[in-house]
Amino acid sequence: MSDTRILAGVHPVDLGDGVHAFFTTGAGGVSPAPWSTSGGGGGLNLGLNVSDDAARVAVNRSLAAERLGAPVAFATQVHGDVVLELGAAERALWAGRRPPGSAGEGDALVTSERGLGLGVLVADCVPVLLADPEARVVGVAHAGRKGVLAGVVHRALDALVARGADPARVRAAVGPAVCGRCYEVPAAMRDEVAAAVPEAFATTSDGTPGLDLPSGVVAQLAARGVVATRVERCTLEDPELFSHRRASAAGTTTGRQAGIVALR
Ligand SMILES: [Zn+2]
Repeated sequence: MSDTRILAGVHPVDLGDGVHAFFTTGAGGVSPAPWSTSGGGGGLNLGLNVSDDAARVAVNRSLAAERLGAPVAFATQVHGDVVLELGAAERALWAGRRPPGSAGEGDALVTSERGLGLGVLVADCVPVLLADPEARVVGVAHAGRKGVLAGVVHRALDALVARGADPARVRAAVGPAVCGRCYEVPAAMRDEVAAAVPEAFATTSDGTPGLDLPSGVVAQLAARGVVATRVERCTLEDPELFSHRRASAAGTTTGRQAGIVALR
């Protein structure tokens, strides 16, 4: 089975032996505009609750699962810091004929279960993938502005450590998100985030206050001794990726791409 034939456009990342990890783009699915991108063909919208047809989202999710070679669980993300721990029961549920739409409310997922994909849905927020190949534990986190402030990346890492991970061994990938040149915010909002995470301080290409959340997340991980690989793609600038802010500015909605990780 060729990796490139199934879901052309995914961005693979190396998180170590026995770990399968990648970021999807907007391409390779069955959704029409506005849940598609310029990547070609139908849109690979993996998010429910963005007005796309649930049956199409189910097809798109099954395409992502086929690409991974395992079922992929997604949470209902609420910009908080709750970590959901998934195991054998959840793997059976998500591998079933009628997988649930959500693993529950939370912004991070962790598992030691082999053959269960964890997915994090984004369209400007920062998708984070974590793995300790030796301790055999993986996780994902959804880090938008509120999640960065709430410390969701720390909570996800804590959950990996509780399952035997060593931060010095953990490999992380910080996926496509809106960059600091594009993410304009009110000055007070920049001050609030930068007070907690100075590395997130940014100035946009228009010279206005901004936030660089990917750099903020990389710094949060570095503070714990975790070295992250960063995918240098900006969702707002890259027409192959879904961007909530780009869609909102155009008066429309859009889809959600995902970061996905699993133990083989
Ligand atoms: Zn940008």
